[in-house]
Amino acid sequence: MIPPLPQNGQRAPLWQHELRQAFGRPQDLLAYLELDPALPALAAGMLRDFPLRVPRGFAARMRKGDPRDPLFLQVWPSAQEAVVTPGYVVDAVGDLPRVREAGLLHKYQGRVLLVATGACAVHCRYCFRRHFPYSEQLAARDHWAAALAEIAADSSIEEVILSGGDPLSLSDDKLAELVARLDAIPHLQRLRIHTRQPIMLPERIDERLLAWLDRTRLQTVFVLHANHAAELDDSVRRALLPLRERGIALLNQSVLLRGINDDATTLASLSKRLFECGVLPYYLHLLDRVQGAAHFDLPEDDAQRLMRVLSSQLPGYLLPKLVREIAGAPAKTWIAWEASAPSR
Ligand code: SF4
Repeated sequence: MIPPLPQNGQRAPLWQHELRQAFGRPQDLLAYLELDPALPALAAGMLRDFPLRVPRGFAARMRKGDPRDPLFLQVWPSAQEAVVTPGYVVDAVGDLPRVREAGLLHKYQGRVLLVATGACAVHCRYCFRRHFPYSEQLAARDHWAAALAEIAADSSIEEVILSGGDPLSLSDDKLAELVARLDAIPHLQRLRIHTRQPIMLPERIDERLLAWLDRTRLQTVFVLHANHAAELDDSVRRALLPLRERGIALLNQSVLLRGINDDATTLASLSKRLFECGVLPYYLHLLDRVQGAAHFDLPEDDAQRLMRVLSSQLPGYLLPKLVREIAGAPAKTWIAWEASAPSR
């Protein structure tokens, strides 16, 4: 069932309530998961810039008593984040040299990316924008004026990607206003929304969100982000249904993460579960080498071996493309892995 609209003057949408209840203190999450309270964590001083954040609904999908749970490992601020590893940098994908206006990034031909907000429902410890200077780079700061003027002045731009942070952290009033203004730019054809919210907070797909999606003339694509089949419980599958019914394309990008999804069986289960939820696997990213996340990384030849096995287990339409984002490159770089047999 789609969560109903709150009545005028009454409580905030359910998803905002859920967001306020999210775990923010490591000791609370450990207690809830019945884990050792002495589990090594990042020192409090280092945690300040990128604190723990886990919605309760997501924590409920973790196995209690298991510090190796693949969902827990994605959000647990491990002491390994403090290790400085050569080659792992603050701006891993070269965002900042591609800024055209505050919060407007132009990396690839025909598409621009709007950093709509720095807020997320969850803090993924491997996040490539974990050091991004959101306070300086928010396109929303002046009611989008500079970013929208730039887009309107460049008729080569066909697609706007709402990113962040997570763009669905913004209120629907703000999103509706932004999308209405994008609608009015004649050369725009597509709206892409990069979001992890429907997985973290399935309540986010409510009537208010669907109302502005129904109004836009732009062809809409959601690119979700799930790394493991256990993230996609039935509440997520149900939440995605109204998007599917509206013909919105649903794609998923994953990150290949050591100890979380770095085996073919796990990745095959993820692809199959995504398809059950009406989502097509799109990208499997090699980790963006961001400072503090080196412990999640895998060598490229391990990833290539894994893809060879995966290709023998899945039909071609469930096989994500193995890619790496290279700063300054004109597109994502596809990593060849030489299939042992053609996918069907
Ligand atoms: S939801 Fe996306 S932007 Fe937010 S912390 Fe996770 S990976 Fe980063």
